[in-house]
Amino acid sequence: MPELVFFCGTMDCGKSTLALQIEHNRSARGLQGMIFSRDDRAGEGKLSSRLGLVTDAVEVGDGQDLYGYLVDHLSQGGRADYVIADEAQFLAPEQIDQLARVVDDLSLDVYAFGITTDFRSKLFPGSQRLVELADRVEVLQVEALCWCGARATHNARTIGGVMVVEGAQVVVGDVTHSADEVGYEVLCRRHHRRRMTAATSHAAALSPDVLPVTSA
Ligand SMILES: [Zn+2]
Repeated sequence: MPELVFFCGTMDCGKSTLALQIEHNRSARGLQGMIFSRDDRAGEGKLSSRLGLVTDAVEVGDGQDLYGYLVDHLSQGGRADYVIADEAQFLAPEQIDQLARVVDDLSLDVYAFGITTDFRSKLFPGSQRLVELADRVEVLQVEALCWCGARATHNARTIGGVMVVEGAQVVVGDVTHSADEVGYEVLCRRHHRRRMTAATSHAAALSPDVLPVTSA
């Protein structure tokens, strides 16, 4: 039976690497995938992993009908044996419904990869819909670590290494710490609650009178 599978985790947990591995394993068996992505760090129309691998993808637009796109592709003689949707947290809930229809009506496996929660620890709408509709939800086992060494379960947004909790849900950035730029860092829940990033914990250790911001 074809399935809608949601592979989820924090940023930096190896989702895109696994997506590329699934793509590689199936194409090595002569299968052809339809790969969707959105706002990949390597740019439009790409699926890339932090380990340096990259493949071409269809860049999903606002309001694009993914089921309709596949039906058109197949009716024009195109081939698709399975579907990969990376950065699925950025898809609209309707687009997740369309992916479920691809599984049910076109009998294709759909592998969706995404971050579960945003920097405020709230579900992304696309991820919420995936949790609601997926046949299986797989939490990725390549676990990212907080600076303290504990399992990182939460995504923090940082500016200059300092955690922020206000702002738009989607701001493009990467796991970096440049001076004034928006970055992201994965933390354990304890340090996400205390808003303690690697940079602020380091600063606190160096000067005991500068205490890190604690949550209310
Ligand atoms: Zn921690």
